[in-house]
Amino acid sequence: MSIKLRAQLIIAFIVLMVSATLTFYHLSQERKYVKERTEHSSVNIRHAFGAIIQDTEHLYRFRTRATLGVTGVIDAVENKDTQALYNAILPRYNALKEENPYLTVMQFHASDGRSILRVHLKEKFGDDIASKRPMLREVHKTHKMVSGFEGGLGGIAFRVIMPIFKQNRYIGAVEFGVDAEYFVDRIKHLTGSDSIVLINKESIGAADAEKYSDGIGHYFYTSDLKEKKELIEQFAYQNARLESRHLEINSKAYEINPLFLKDSRNRDLGVIISINDVTGISQNIHDVLLGSLMVTIGMMILLWSLFEYTFGALIGKVNLQERYINTILDSQKNIVIVTDGYDIIFANRAFYDYFGFENLVAFKREHSCICEYFESDESGRYIMPLVDGTVWTEYLIEHENEELQAKMTVNAKTSIFTVTSKRMDYRGKIRHVVVFTDITRINELATQDVLTGVANRFQFDKVLGHTVRMAQRSQRGLSLMLLDIDYFKKVNDTYGHLTGDEVLKQFTAILTQNVRKTDTVARWGGEEFVILFPDTELSAIVKLAESLRQKIEAYSFSPVERVTCSIGVVAWNEGETIDELLKRVDQKLYLAKELGRNRVES
Ligand code: GH3
Ligand code: MG
Ligand code: MG
Repeated sequence: MSIKLRAQLIIAFIVLMVSATLTFYHLSQERKYVKERTEHSSVNIRHAFGAIIQDTEHLYRFRTRATLGVTGVIDAVENKDTQALYNAILPRYNALKEENPYLTVMQFHASDGRSILRVHLKEKFGDDIASKRPMLREVHKTHKMVSGFEGGLGGIAFRVIMPIFKQNRYIGAVEFGVDAEYFVDRIKHLTGSDSIVLINKESIGAADAEKYSDGIGHYFYTSDLKEKKELIEQFAYQNARLESRHLEINSKAYEINPLFLKDSRNRDLGVIISINDVTGISQNIHDVLLGSLMVTIGMMILLWSLFEYTFGALIGKVNLQERYINTILDSQKNIVIVTDGYDIIFANRAFYDYFGFENLVAFKREHSCICEYFESDESGRYIMPLVDGTVWTEYLIEHENEELQAKMTVNAKTSIFTVTSKRMDYRGKIRHVVVFTDITRINELATQDVLTGVANRFQFDKVLGHTVRMAQRSQRGLSLMLLDIDYFKKVNDTYGHLTGDEVLKQFTAILTQNVRKTDTVARWGGEEFVILFPDTELSAIVKLAESLRQKIEAYSFSPVERVTCSIGVVAWNEGETIDELLKRVDQKLYLAKELGRNRVES
């Protein structure tokens, strides 16, 4: 995963966490607010309802006095004279009905429990109503006013029943009944809330049963609910005791409060459900979520663009630096690689040019390590993939101060490199920067004779030293041959220096062609050459010397007609120093010269 992507994900995560926290806080605040509001409104509406009931009771208590003051009313009650009572009271009833259209009941009761007159239902009287109406029985019994909700022929009504006395003698009672819808109206007036009346199924008289069929729980609806039905059902759902609730439905919010209709004995006859539409007063949850979503998106966009801006600049800077470094590395003739010790991670242009690969992938397809190219020789001085049991990269670090070399052959061309390495650690990751410097040419210049291409004296000394040491260790012999061209001065004098050079080159070629690869031919100086034969017997080399002498004598170095040479041959004696050995071979050559030249002495 790139650093940029990682940073972007972290930012996104932080933004989401912050916004989730804020949303959560906001929602909980909102819920708290809604809960408080609901509780508050529940208390308010209950107070309002209580006040309405009290006012109604007061109103009809006062209306009773005025009613009983109408001439002939008391007497008609005492005489249970239905017609006389009706005639006397009708204008009064009409006035009261005008005052309050919800007044549905005005009834006079005889003290024996029978109905004297239903002003609202004139034809029906004389029935034993007290047996059906507990409130009435109570008035007959206590001779005191009783009020409360009670069912009757006209349905549930709030009833105020006042005792009637004549000269302190109880003669009956007058009853006013106000329809429950009156309270719906009053509540709307006082609080602005709509309400619906529900009647307890057990309190519905036989007459009412047909009117109501639909309902919830213990209650029947008394009115057409239309769109409120769904709301009421949701309100009642898992809320058997019908407690106040805040409800949200169809993207509207409501506060719903039940107002129980109690009779005089505090029995539950029904309930008025007050529904207050509070949509818009409290932010609903969707708004909160939408708001926080918008804020989140906004924050994301803001931080993202800020990030793109700053990171873009940073990336630009880093890219520029990377390009500097790449340019510097690619302009190097030295091969530079970065490895973790095993695998190549980076390589510069010189690497690809040298090995002939397009890129690292192409290289890795065929090789797992640059060290696969490492070669050794008998001198043992070149580094190998494993040096004394240590991986080459580690070995380089451990031998930082030595000049280590590697030999590699690519396209049949062998090159020698010095190898240096620097190690860096970064957060537990190890990187080796390894530099291969091609020293093939310098090496050649330092070890070869420029004119003839064979080893120079410096190189020969090294090889001789090494070979003598090996001979000492392995008990094997070695031989040395020293050759000097006869009268070479004359060649120069006669044909010129350039021809002399040509002769030297051809002379060398004859030597190298006639010895083994393991033998070392070197220019000892001027027109003198030396050949080292490791692991050989003197007699064989003497034979070879003789054959060489003849070949040279026979060879046509045109324009020089005849070139001969004198040769000294010795074998190394055990325990002999190099100086002693060289001195002896020199003496043999001298002897060959002395004895007439163009001969071999051993
Ligand atoms: P001798 O038989 O005693 O060896 O006689 P010589 O003339 O070969 O011996 P001398 O040592 O007197 O002369 C060697 C000559 O080789 C002298 C020098 O001019 C010549 N010479 C040495 N190096 C070179 C070279 O690189 N090129 C040419 N053309 N001549 C060289
Ligand atoms: Mg000579
Ligand atoms: Mg000489």
